[in-house]
Amino acid sequence: SSNNLQGYAPICLGLEDFYIRRLYLRIQDCFGRPISSAPDAWFDVVERYSNDNNKTLIRTSKKSRCLNLGSYNYLGFAASDEYCTPRVIESMKKYSPSTCSSRVDAGTTLLHEELEKYVANFVGKPAAIVFGMGYVTNSAILPVLMGKGGLIISDSLNHNSIVNGARGSGATVRVFQHNTPSHLEEVLREQIAEGQPRTHRPWKKIIVIVEGIYSMEGELCKLPEIIAICKKYKAYTYLDEAHSIGAVGKTGRGVCELLGVDPVDVDIMMGTFTKSFGSCGGYIAGSKDLIQYLKYTCPAHLYATSISPPAAEQIISAIKVILGEDGTSRGAQKLARIRENSNFFRSELQRMGFEVLGDHDSPVMPIMLYNPAKIPAFSRECLKQNVAVVTVAFPATPLLLARARICISASHTKEDLIQALEVISQVGDLVGIKYFPAEPKKQ
Ligand code: PMP
Repeated sequence: SSNNLQGYAPICLGLEDFYIRRLYLRIQDCFGRPISSAPDAWFDVVERYSNDNNKTLIRTSKKSRCLNLGSYNYLGFAASDEYCTPRVIESMKKYSPSTCSSRVDAGTTLLHEELEKYVANFVGKPAAIVFGMGYVTNSAILPVLMGKGGLIISDSLNHNSIVNGARGSGATVRVFQHNTPSHLEEVLREQIAEGQPRTHRPWKKIIVIVEGIYSMEGELCKLPEIIAICKKYKAYTYLDEAHSIGAVGKTGRGVCELLGVDPVDVDIMMGTFTKSFGSCGGYIAGSKDLIQYLKYTCPAHLYATSISPPAAEQIISAIKVILGEDGTSRGAQKLARIRENSNFFRSELQRMGFEVLGDHDSPVMPIMLYNPAKIPAFSRECLKQNVAVVTVAFPATPLLLARARICISASHTKEDLIQALEVISQVGDLVGIKYFPAEPKKQ
């Protein structure tokens, strides 16, 4: 009898079970179907990515070619590129897909050395070390940097790889309210008396960990304020730039460049190659002493197979394009494009009445759904119209703060974005997630 023709009103939400799989089983649509068994609502398999305007062939219950608003392909390098791809193919022929050896055995090629130089130079640090996986970079480095007697102060919304690395380190872990410098200061003040020299306080070492752009919030880190507090209390700073390096800043050098922070003021810079550079792996950049120490002691450097040579070549080539070393202005155009695209898409979504999280210039824009039962509805209706959107929910977000997370790319054209906005607007009306009055379109 309810006005629930599409079947999207949830009739059962069991909150007693906080494991997502079980939670999904307890959320049913009004026909009593568990939403986890709604095959038409989720991506099945991506059959191929394409380089024409970021369209992806995604297999759902019906095979469809979708506009991809889900991948972290910020600069559009995650598909065939006229500069990168031929070089990657050459490196494949020269070195093969795997070194079959760790960095300290036979796994360091010329490409690995070149990559570390390029990365250090790009992020503005004296040295860098690279790993085959971004996740492992955080989870393996933190236990090497920190141990018993150390204090890690971590933003409450830091990525799981940081949480795991911090827990595994044996250090004491404290969390400060997300992106709230005043609370960070409160936590630090609780732990040490202000102004004491490093040697006269209970902790051997204090490290504060933040992200450049928060991947579930689309928000920029309040880095200048956080650095000032770290300096005052003599704590080290650790900045994860997974979502910001290459994606923001006039020359793509991340939040430091965007917010006017000198990289010298960030002690440890971490980032991944899986987003803006269209490859895989992660890096730590810092002082020469720090990097040498990590190279001697980090098990993920000593015992894991080194990053794949074609992946390394992809990163080097992408950085060359960003820096204009390919002899074109494509890099600068990509950077201008992602900024324009992001700001256009965000302001249009807000104008339509959606609640959109995040900051100006950020390519990550979560649209709030709140109710987890709206997840399959939103996803399914977008997929029906060939727009692929990633939805995120507990445990990646708090239980009742489910959202759709849009990732904008430099490879989206204005027409792509206009088409996506039309679809999202219609679906927003259907699912009931326009929480603000719409404003008229600017002429
Ligand atoms: N740090 C952050 C902030 C991330 O969002 C991610 C993954 N998206 C990682 C680290 C792990 O990186 P990767 O996916 O490259 O392993």
